[in-house]
Amino acid sequence: MASAEPAADECFCKSCGEIIKKEAEICPKCGVRQKSASSQRQKFASSQKDRMTAGILGILLGSLGIHKFYLGKNALGIIYLCFCWTGIPTIVGFVEGIIYLFASDEEFQKKYVEK
Ligand SMILES: [Zn+2]
Repeated sequence: MASAEPAADECFCKSCGEIIKKEAEICPKCGVRQKSASSQRQKFASSQKDRMTAGILGILLGSLGIHKFYLGKNALGIIYLCFCWTGIPTIVGFVEGIIYLFASDEEFQKKYVEK
């Protein structure tokens, strides 16, 4: 009797489809790492940052590093904040904002968003 339905604490492996424990980080069958299996539904909502929002924040509030905070790069954001009086973060933030707006979504998520 092979169980085709996963139990409450089980789910399907994303790679081989084998039923594995939800807590399992790596599928014991195929060895593929499971990326936050339980939060799969929220994947886009939680980790995906809006490129347009980040770009506009960079252009308008780049001097305060707001776009860096938005992207989860808090350490960088604080550096921007500390140097906002020099005017340099304003220029850098502006340029970064433009880069965000012109980058592809995939490139943006890969390169600029803190995971
Ligand atoms: Zn597997």
